Amino acid sequence: MMERTLVIVKPDGVQRALVGEIIKRFEARGLRIAGMKLMRIPRETAERHYAEHKGKSFYESTVAYITSAPVVVMCLEGPDAVAAVRATMGATNPLSAPPGSIRGDLGLSIARNLVHGADKPETAVRELALYFTADELISYERSGDKWLTE
Ligand code: GDP
Repeated sequence: MMERTLVIVKPDGVQRALVGEIIKRFEARGLRIAGMKLMRIPRETAERHYAEHKGKSFYESTVAYITSAPVVVMCLEGPDAVAAVRATMGATNPLSAPPGSIRGDLGLSIARNLVHGADKPETAVRELALYFTADELISYERSGDKWLTE
């Protein structure tokens, strides 16, 4: 199933100079970049992004963290892109993320877990609309794409 999903290299990923390292893992897995930008997330967008967590103990600090410094937002496209991104990131808490995953290799703390990826296809649609207009996303084929699936 061809899907698009939202990925964010969070402020700690940018500040630790891990943007390339993180994108490399998604790209090497076969996911295609359909949109990408560096931005400072406005508070209002972050509140909409994390609306499901409003009222939880970590809500305020999570909104503060994601808005604290620039992030890189991406639309990644590919077969089962949502699940592929989630598996490549590893569990929310880096201590539970397996070695080989982004969080398992590069992170130590749930409050600084480097990367965001939409958790379901419906969430991906909602989240992509928060960060990208339709004309900022580009559909194209790479010559190697035919070697990624049967
Ligand atoms: P995700 O989809 O794997 O990012 O996880 P969630 O949707 O459950 O949580 C969203 C984000 O909130 C996480 O990526 C963390 O940055 C933050 N978060 C979640 N749970 C906790 C927690 O227990 N403590 C803290 N400090 N942050 C948390």
